[in-house]
Amino acid sequence: MAKDGIRIMDVLHQTTADGPGLRTSIYCAGCLHHCPGCHNPESWDMAGGHWVGIDELLEDIKSDDIADVSFSGGDPFYQAEAFTELARRIKEETDKTIWCWTGFTIEEIRRDPDLARMLPYLDVLVDGPFILGLKKPGLHFRGSSNQRIIYLNGQPEEDCIPGTVKTLPYL
Ligand code: SF4
Repeated sequence: MAKDGIRIMDVLHQTTADGPGLRTSIYCAGCLHHCPGCHNPESWDMAGGHWVGIDELLEDIKSDDIADVSFSGGDPFYQAEAFTELARRIKEETDKTIWCWTGFTIEEIRRDPDLARMLPYLDVLVDGPFILGLKKPGLHFRGSSNQRIIYLNGQPEEDCIPGTVKTLPYL
């Protein structure tokens, strides 16, 4: 997948659904996890959505002084090279935080250098596939209880394991 653009389903501005506060949410196309019960199967097609250049996405993100950024989909890690470039430039050119949702676990991502390159630019990773049998209403920012909210930016690793994640200060 090209590094200079991302296949996008939608970009939502000032949403409060994808992480704390107001956020610009980038919903990408393409997901091969095919979790039964997925909330968004129309996003699975790897050739779906439409192509948007990194520069255009960045300008869109920067046009909002307040909103932080969320990557979702689809699965951003199926377009890891381009999302890594977008995340790198967001961190270089703004002070915005980045939350990212993925169907991969962080252990899978760390084992693959092509995927792991994105991690240093993310503040929070919400990881793991949606598992219908573990669906739990009321989980903040997750659909099933296997999924973890993992703080990557200066947070102690031991605070990032499910069951040990402390109460999120903004919830
Ligand atoms: S990872 Fe997310 S988008 Fe992909 S199939 Fe699972 S729930 Fe759907």
